Amino acid sequence: MDACESCERASVEILEACDDPGHPYRLCSPCHARLLKRSLRPLEWFNLAKRHGWWLHLLHEDFYSQDGIADQPLEEVSSPSDFPAPTLEASCSDLESLFQFSVTRWDIRPDLLDAWRRFAEPQVLSFLYSRFTDPLEERFRYRAISLAVALAGGRASHFVREAWRLHREAFGISALASLSSESMSVEDALSLVLPELESLGPDRTREHLHCLFPLASPPLLEWIETHAASPVVNTWGELAARCEPDVDRLHVWIQRGRPLSLVALDTLLVQILATERGNATYPWKSKVHALLDDLVELRSADPAPRVKDTIDAILSRVI
Ligand SMILES: [Zn+2]
Repeated sequence: MDACESCERASVEILEACDDPGHPYRLCSPCHARLLKRSLRPLEWFNLAKRHGWWLHLLHEDFYSQDGIADQPLEEVSSPSDFPAPTLEASCSDLESLFQFSVTRWDIRPDLLDAWRRFAEPQVLSFLYSRFTDPLEERFRYRAISLAVALAGGRASHFVREAWRLHREAFGISALASLSSESMSVEDALSLVLPELESLGPDRTREHLHCLFPLASPPLLEWIETHAASPVVNTWGELAARCEPDVDRLHVWIQRGRPLSLVALDTLLVQILATERGNATYPWKSKVHALLDDLVELRSADPAPRVKDTIDAILSRVI
């Protein structure tokens, strides 16, 4: 009989499928009881998290700390200090151990990346690619590609192109856009992201606009012009603000009226607020001065409260 996935000593007695029917926990009876009582020892939590993922219900962060310490045990944890989880330092002897440690982390921190950088990059990418393409490692595919992109950027773009080809649905457009922005030129990334976004239809495009934030750049302004549609959510302005349209373009947007006039107003206000908060430095003041006549005119032409309030908020900064 196989060894229990938790203690790795006793024989498997129970298959517990409550968290993942297709991939049950294989456990001895005592470990099964501790799993259900949220009272695994740190090493037992680690051994299950490295196989199944820390995000499953019985292992997730509400019940255990990042070191596998039970936060809400339904019974006292038995001798936890005798069963510590491996540390990062102890997991650096080989790539397999480091990957196991990596998939138990809630997120990818700089010290984890530093540990991976102790190994030669070609060796690391080859290892991560084998994990990324292994059908039995599906649950850790995203962690494998995320590590590869974080470590190698454009040298891991083949991971991302393969994800677009084979795992579009599983990853989702937001994750793919983010990975693309970190591993490809803006032009290449947009050539993949924009058709996918458009295929979602106007309503879902609107919901997913934030995935373009890391790809914000002047070429995207033309796409905004042809795709912004009512109802104009503020996200259009947030996106446009990051693309930094010049005065001439904002002037045209205001003159064209809705929906682009609304996007132009939101763009200015987003740039003003971001600058005031210290999150960015946009030269918004000169733009507002250059657009004063346009803004006053629009305030009369479109008396909707949203328009009036936004223009008032913008003008209050310069008058
Ligand atoms: Zn066990």
